[in-house]
Amino acid sequence: MSYHANEKGYYGEFGGAFIPEMLYPNCEELRQNYVQIMETDEFKNEFHQLLKDYVGRPTPLYFAERLSEKHQTKIYLKREDLCHTGAHKVNNTIGQILMAKKLGKNRIIAETGAGQHGVATATVCALMGIQCVVYMGEIDIARQSPNVARMKMLGAEVRAAKSGSRTLKDATNEAIRDWINNPVDTHYIIGSVVGPHPYPDMVARFQSVISEEVKWQLKEKEGRENPDYVVACVGGGSNAAGLYYHYLDTPEVGIIAVEAAGKGVNSGESAATSALGKVGIIHGSKTLLMQTDDGQITEPYSISAGLDYPGVGPMHAHLFKSGRGEFISITDDEAMTSGLELSQLEGIIPAIETSHAFAIFDYKKFEKDDIVVFNLSGRGDKDLNTYIDYFKL
Ligand SMILES: *Cc1c(COP(=O)(O)O)cnc(C)c1O
Repeated sequence: MSYHANEKGYYGEFGGAFIPEMLYPNCEELRQNYVQIMETDEFKNEFHQLLKDYVGRPTPLYFAERLSEKHQTKIYLKREDLCHTGAHKVNNTIGQILMAKKLGKNRIIAETGAGQHGVATATVCALMGIQCVVYMGEIDIARQSPNVARMKMLGAEVRAAKSGSRTLKDATNEAIRDWINNPVDTHYIIGSVVGPHPYPDMVARFQSVISEEVKWQLKEKEGRENPDYVVACVGGGSNAAGLYYHYLDTPEVGIIAVEAAGKGVNSGESAATSALGKVGIIHGSKTLLMQTDDGQITEPYSISAGLDYPGVGPMHAHLFKSGRGEFISITDDEAMTSGLELSQLEGIIPAIETSHAFAIFDYKKFEKDDIVVFNLSGRGDKDLNTYIDYFKL
């Protein structure tokens, strides 16, 4: 079985491009060109040069000695928190801004929920001197003001989505409407391995630099390229896709995906898509999503804004359905506790999204000599206020 996208963008039964006809030319232009462009030497050189000089790659693969001692297994941390802007998201936006330039686009649009993807997009637009419009729900604008300020400082225009629940899905609808109206000059930068084909595959390829590096870094440290497990938190699934990518077809490497259970999988307030999701279509892709019996998307909840998404990318739906990936749901409380533990054992304050991944030890037992690579997807600076409120610091 293959765990990569086929030509039509399907991972098993999931994926594809379920889009309004008016959007077809935009997606088709991208679909016809993305692989060819990415495989030119010119593109590869520019991409890797920027990842090195601007993002700060390769990020370290760090052996976490005290955390390993505590959990009685060998734990390595892939330090995506050390990327410029503080998380893995910039790997994708660097790739897509270069793609946009090759396609002759001079305007970028994006949608954002918590603002992290908006900031990563505004960053690369500033870098390239390209006009940037970020759609964001009116409610999210109010509750994520530091990221709104960052985007403005970087020169982006933040447009409020005022319809519906005034959150991420409404911002996405506005961005799609904009793209339909501006098919020639505008590229739409999607922030995770979601959306219509070719986005999930394109974003996974850009993020695959993560596992490309892990392979040689682990070889240097342990004499072998393959760990026993790779572990990542899953919102839409881009940091996870990047860590899994070069191990998808290596069955000896166990794949563990960690979702947000919010206040508990059965509490009605969660984002545990694999546990609760049913097959449906979201953002142009057939995948697992949380929905009511009559197909209305359920409002997700998680203490971490980056995991607060009602669906999951089609690659992950396929990993779940096929059994290739093991999915574990972690509550807010468990995540917060493990974030504190990582801070105090290793001196690294993780993003709350990332903290979920470190809470799996009660659910998954590892052998003492297992090598387990965790994707440390982002740093916790943006979450400091949530940590302060939670722990009364
Ligand atoms: C956005 C974000 C996530 C979730 O997005 P994925 O596409 O699932 O990776 C996870 N961790 C951090 C730090 C983020 O900013």
